[in-house]
Amino acid sequence: MINFNVPPYTGKEIKYIEEAVRNQKICGDGPFTRKCSEWIEQKTGTAKCLLTTSCTHATEMAALLADIREGDEVIMPSYTFVSTADAFVLRGARVVFVDVRPDTMNMDETLVEDAVTERTRVIVPVHYAGVGCEMDTIMEIAKRHQLMVVEDAAQGIMSTYKGKALGTFGEFGCFSFHETKNFSMGEGGALLIRDEKYIEDAEIYREKGTDRSKYFRGQVDKYRWQNYGSSYLPSDMNAAYLYAQLELAEEITQTRMDRWKEYWEQLTPLAEEGRIELPYIPAHCAHNAHMFFIKTKDLEERTRLEAFLKERGVYAVFHYVPLHSAPAGLKFGRFHGEDKYTTRESERLLRLPMFYALTADQVEYITEQVKAFYHG
Ligand SMILES: *Cc1c(COP(=O)(O)O)cnc(C)c1O
Repeated sequence: MINFNVPPYTGKEIKYIEEAVRNQKICGDGPFTRKCSEWIEQKTGTAKCLLTTSCTHATEMAALLADIREGDEVIMPSYTFVSTADAFVLRGARVVFVDVRPDTMNMDETLVEDAVTERTRVIVPVHYAGVGCEMDTIMEIAKRHQLMVVEDAAQGIMSTYKGKALGTFGEFGCFSFHETKNFSMGEGGALLIRDEKYIEDAEIYREKGTDRSKYFRGQVDKYRWQNYGSSYLPSDMNAAYLYAQLELAEEITQTRMDRWKEYWEQLTPLAEEGRIELPYIPAHCAHNAHMFFIKTKDLEERTRLEAFLKERGVYAVFHYVPLHSAPAGLKFGRFHGEDKYTTRESERLLRLPMFYALTADQVEYITEQVKAFYHG
């Protein structure tokens, strides 16, 4: 049996967790949290990285920092995970969904400007499969209309657009370290802050509305309640798990990329016959092999292929049910323009197993089963 996902594990995680326990520092903002944040700052070039309890929480912090109020509008794709919308809806925002591009499954940047109204405050590009959205166009629109940009880069660590790290274009970028992502800490995430002016408020929101971060740096002699806030900082034990993976980030990414290319090469003949479609990576985007998906003819064929693979011990899964057609999407949002691709393309997309421990032999087995399905 080949699972869809196996959490990444490199071998040093247990040692580092033990070290965290021995340090007698298992709450937030201990030595491993600092190491992880500094690693991310160095790798991405962001002004500040704050480790969080999830990408969902990083996005909630971004919504707080953007000062989202009742009735504000936020533009995002409908083809995304619920957290992208939840974080803003929690602050009273209305979500305005725009269609995706069928090639990358990212928000169609040419449709964004038409969705802007007087109430629009934020654009949220989601870098699907770790492949960058058209950030030049999106940042230009944001500038022209004085909007903020919050990148849902949950899947995008180690990926770049025109050489610049995903998550560093907008005011805020959000990473996920959930066990299904390239690097994990079980549950966890990070908020990337582009401009230093937001750091102090971000630290306060993250520490229950207090200036405790300043206190720990010795900048104030006692910490006090400054604003509303919550508890968005992860345990240092979780950060210890993550740090073991960040240390091996290049190797993990390279291994995933090898598997990704094997899928690509072995499935290219089927694509050339017109039986399936393969992912598209724009030339100016370097991706992180977060995901390998194929597209079938339609929903019916995908359902049959999924069952066929399962019978042969391969767990392939589909992805998001578009948010605009879900109960909460109907309540909290609206689709701007025509749903030309969101529903149709999401129904054709099937994700094949992709994880650090996946072997070349397993990829070969999986692609043989896909070929057997089409060639009978
Ligand atoms: C995984 C994911 C999230 C949520 O991440 P958590 O860390 O589980 O909160 C949000 N958006 C996208 C696009 C994701 O893939």
